[in-house]
Amino acid sequence: MSRSPVAKPIVILTGAGISKESGLHTFRDPDGIWATVRVEDVATPEAFRRDPRRVHAFYNERRRGLLRPEVQPNAAHSALARLESEWPAPVLLVTQNIDDLHERAGSRNLRHMHGELLKSRCEACGNVTSGRDDLTIELACAACTAIGAMRPHVVWFGEMPFDLDEVYGALGRCGLFLSIGTSGNVYPAAGFVAEARAAGAHTVELNLEPSEGHTQFAQGFYGKAGEIVPAYVDRLLAARR
Ligand code: NAD
Repeated sequence: MSRSPVAKPIVILTGAGISKESGLHTFRDPDGIWATVRVEDVATPEAFRRDPRRVHAFYNERRRGLLRPEVQPNAAHSALARLESEWPAPVLLVTQNIDDLHERAGSRNLRHMHGELLKSRCEACGNVTSGRDDLTIELACAACTAIGAMRPHVVWFGEMPFDLDEVYGALGRCGLFLSIGTSGNVYPAAGFVAEARAAGAHTVELNLEPSEGHTQFAQGFYGKAGEIVPAYVDRLLAARR
């Protein structure tokens, strides 16, 4: 990390690993969410058409889990909020997580590319609303009054992630790309490192262990996010002073 006269924009991609120490499960780890349910039963548009009650039950349980008082942002979330407020160039945080721990920690320039658990969307009119209560098939849309059309505002397998044009634009301009707590298995997010490299950015992976795609990164730091992310952010900010 050398001192540079001009701070360049940063793009950060986060995944489930950053929220693990806050008490939320990852997806593909041995104790992860996909060890207990099948993707095709709960996280596809076809699953929702086939058995909406089951899909609602899955996300209702996750929403209740997120709202437990003990689930709070950890030191890694806070460090990224500090980086955004102290770095002299734009910092875009792109998360695959549907929890709200980044915003609770203070991140503002944040995109939820896989949606948000605390929002729902009407499949009839597209209206998006915030809410903390369970979703059911009996619910009426507050905007168009259609009944049974409310779904979690999350991106299921086979659907297009949100805000991709903006994210690719930022990747093309960034000087540093950080990938934190993600296994790098789900595209298009898994391809962001290649975009950043093509733009000439320095690329860094911070994860519990090297991901399958770790060789694509110029540098890697491995350990718990709550420890390695604050330490990395401290070094990055100190190198600017
Ligand atoms: P993942 O479970 O695939 O990977 C988590 C990564 O975090 C692993 O590499 C693991 O080693 C690491 N990790 C675990 N504990 C850690 C810690 N304490 N500190 C640092 N790293 C730690 O999760 P992912 O990469 O986020 O998965 C990709 C995305 O796929 C998910 O975020 C999710 O948005 C998306 N997805 C969503 C749905 C859905 O419900 N709509 C379905 C499938 C996938």
